[in-house]
Amino acid sequence: MLTLTCDSLPDDLPCDEEHTQQDNGDASEQADQSQNPEKDELRPGLVLDSCMQPPDIAQEVLSYGNGIFSVAPAQGNKPVGFFAISKLEAMAFPVQFPTGQNTLDEFVTESHMATNSMSIQMRKGKPITSDGRKISSKMLQDKQEVEKLITNKDATRFMQPLRGTLAYWEKTLKDLNAMVRQLGKPTFFLTFSAAEMRWPEVIEAVKAQQGEQVDFSQLDWNAKCDILRSNPVTVMRLFEKRVDTLMTNLILSPAQPIGEVEDYFYRVEFQARGSPHIHLLVWIKDAPEFGDLQDDSVVIKFIDQYITCQMPDPNADPELHKIVSEVQVHSRNHSKSCRKGNVLCRFGFPKPPMEKTILTYPTPDDDDDSDDDDNQQQVSGQKNRRKGKKGKQRNRALRIRQKEAKDKLQTLRNYISDPNVSFNNLSELLEKCNLTYEEYKKHVTNLTMSNAIVLKRHPKDCWVNGYNPDLLRAWNAALCT
Ligand SMILES: [Zn+2]
Repeated sequence: MLTLTCDSLPDDLPCDEEHTQQDNGDASEQADQSQNPEKDELRPGLVLDSCMQPPDIAQEVLSYGNGIFSVAPAQGNKPVGFFAISKLEAMAFPVQFPTGQNTLDEFVTESHMATNSMSIQMRKGKPITSDGRKISSKMLQDKQEVEKLITNKDATRFMQPLRGTLAYWEKTLKDLNAMVRQLGKPTFFLTFSAAEMRWPEVIEAVKAQQGEQVDFSQLDWNAKCDILRSNPVTVMRLFEKRVDTLMTNLILSPAQPIGEVEDYFYRVEFQARGSPHIHLLVWIKDAPEFGDLQDDSVVIKFIDQYITCQMPDPNADPELHKIVSEVQVHSRNHSKSCRKGNVLCRFGFPKPPMEKTILTYPTPDDDDDSDDDDNQQQVSGQKNRRKGKKGKQRNRALRIRQKEAKDKLQTLRNYISDPNVSFNNLSELLEKCNLTYEEYKKHVTNLTMSNAIVLKRHPKDCWVNGYNPDLLRAWNAALCT
């Protein structure tokens, strides 16, 4: 019976039992096989993965012990793993899966990856720790050793292809660092939040799956919540599709809404078990770098081309005006996540108005780097200590200046925080505060602790979060740039 099973496998692929006996110690061939994904696909990690093999071969032989052997109708065919062929389940059971959808392999890809990865690691047969010691059963009985295996990631390395695991994110971080080394600093950091309550198609799709039709405009908040809760899987899959479409049909399209994309990286996160959002890093071809050029105007021109914080004219562009007012305006009451230590709003709202976009390079008055060259012969340790001390002094000086600037701008802050007061332009506001534009610009620069961008902003837009008009219109939910 055992031989029969083996014969039905392709010639170059011996069954697992034979393989272990023959190839024990032949590391080179094992390595070859693990590098060939096709072979791995045909040699599933679990021996009993195939429907053609009885779960207990010995029992099978005993049951038919009268010299009668059971010959399966599929004799001569190749047994295949459940996941080796996509939609195998649907093909085997067409009545149960008439559309070919909702088969097991759609949902258990991750477990399949884990099984495959584990089986590859096991067949590689190199139980060696990262510090070169052989992993023995004695080691596994020692609690401290096991803890060490886990801390050094030796115990979880096989999980690398599994999204969401520690090993996966470690590899991802390495990949991202490699991208930064290769491509330089990313040009844009964008955050896209989900807003299923604004997306009729999500609610309608969930209902359509349940065989019902709804009129989105007639639903209240609670009804929408109930529908969304009834099928979070569909809601999440639609979010994924939306992200995919945003990338393919807009950001990477020839329309180039944020310039020619050289490369990108994104990660999906969930706000406290709930709403998903993506953080996206984009590298734009030939983007000017902050502080890199003699002339800041090139960088400023680039920023102004793609990012704005202006409330659109409700008559000229009612659609965008509606989206910006609904999702891009920071609440005057702030939220729980705004407060951080003594800071009332860590996002910096209300933001300072400005005639034109400026780049700030805050430097304390007493910061003098000229003596750096004289000390080049110093031992590096000494130099580092000195630098550290200097860094602290610099920060202290900057903080003092920040405090002064805050005091000087308090009157202006009161004006822009007051919903009952409005100004036609910045000059009018500055006049009220007894400040010249130059003084004001200096104070705003001193508010920043590191190099920053202060966007061109009308006094009425102090609560509007910066955005890219094309992306915001398409995404139709909060966007952070
Ligand atoms: Zn806030």
